[in-house]
Amino acid sequence: MNQFVYGPVPSRRLGLSLGISPIPKKTCNYSCIYCQLGRTHPMTNTRSLFYPVEDILSEFDQILAQRVAFDVVTIVGEGEPTLYSGLGSLINGIQTRTEKPVAVITNGALLGDPEVQSELMVADIVLPSLDACDEAMWHTINRPHRSLEFARVNQGLIDFSHAYQGQLWIELMLIAGINDNEASLQQFKDMLSRLNYDRLYINTPVRPPAETWVAAASPETMTRAVTLLGGISIDLLASTGFHSEITDDYEAIKSIIKRHPMNQHEIEGFLRTRGQMQPSDLLEKLRQSPEIEVLEYKGYLTFRLK
Ligand code: SF4
Repeated sequence: MNQFVYGPVPSRRLGLSLGISPIPKKTCNYSCIYCQLGRTHPMTNTRSLFYPVEDILSEFDQILAQRVAFDVVTIVGEGEPTLYSGLGSLINGIQTRTEKPVAVITNGALLGDPEVQSELMVADIVLPSLDACDEAMWHTINRPHRSLEFARVNQGLIDFSHAYQGQLWIELMLIAGINDNEASLQQFKDMLSRLNYDRLYINTPVRPPAETWVAAASPETMTRAVTLLGGISIDLLASTGFHSEITDDYEAIKSIIKRHPMNQHEIEGFLRTRGQMQPSDLLEKLRQSPEIEVLEYKGYLTFRLK
C-alpha cells in the first residue's frame, strides 16, 4: 500500500484527484469540530519536514509509471499540509513531472506566514477554508493551536488572496446553529468582499464529524447562503468514480478508505463499476472487520480505516 499517494478519488470540486499526503495522520494546527478524521492528535503549529521530499516524489513517480488517469494532483494532508516544510519543493517536484494542475487544500491558518505564502504562490489552485466570521466562532469551530491569532490568520488570507496569481477557491463550511444564521451570513459577505478569489464553495458536514453533535445546515439555509454570497453549494450526493488498481474488492476499498471515508452508497456504486452486482456480502464483511470503523450518520453507514 502506498504511503503518500492515494487515489485517484473523485472530488466534487476537482474531478479525478490524485491525492498526496505529506503529513502524518491527524497532525494539524486546528481541531475542527466537523473534521472527518476525528479529533486532532498531535496538535502542532511547527512546520516540519515530516518525510523527505524525495521519498514522496519517488512514490509519485511509481504511480505515474502506471499511467493512472487523473485530472489534478491534490496535496491534502491527513492533517494540515502547510505544516509540511517541504511543501514548496514538493510542489515544484510535482510540476516538473506532470503538466496536470497542482492543488493545495489548506485550513488557511498559516497564510499569514511569508514562507508559506511564497511556497503556495506556485500552486495552480489553492483552496483555503473560511469557517468563522469572528474570533469566538473561530475558537468554537476550528479550535486552533494556542499560538495562532485570529487577526493574523484573517489578514493572511486577505493578503494572500491579492498576491496570488493562481485559482483561489474558498470553502465555507456552514454548521447548523453555529455560523449559519442571517447575521453570520451577512458578516461572511462582508469578509468575502475583502478577498480576491475565483470561486466560493459552500459546504456543510456530510461525513461523520469529529463531534457527534455537529449538524448540517438545512437545505433552506444553504440556498439562502448561495443566493446571498454568490457561491456554489457542494451537493450532498454520493461521489462517483472511485478507482483502484487493486483487483481484490475488499483490499481496494480498504486502500480508498484509508484516506477517504466512503458511505455505503459510494461503496455499492464502486463495486458495481467493477462488475460486482451483489455488494451486500462485501458490505457485511466490511461491517464485521476489526480494521474498519463503521459510523452511522444521517441514516446511512460510513466506513473508514481505523
Ligand atoms: S483543518 Fe482540516 S484536518 Fe485540521 S482539524 Fe480541521 S478539518 Fe481536520
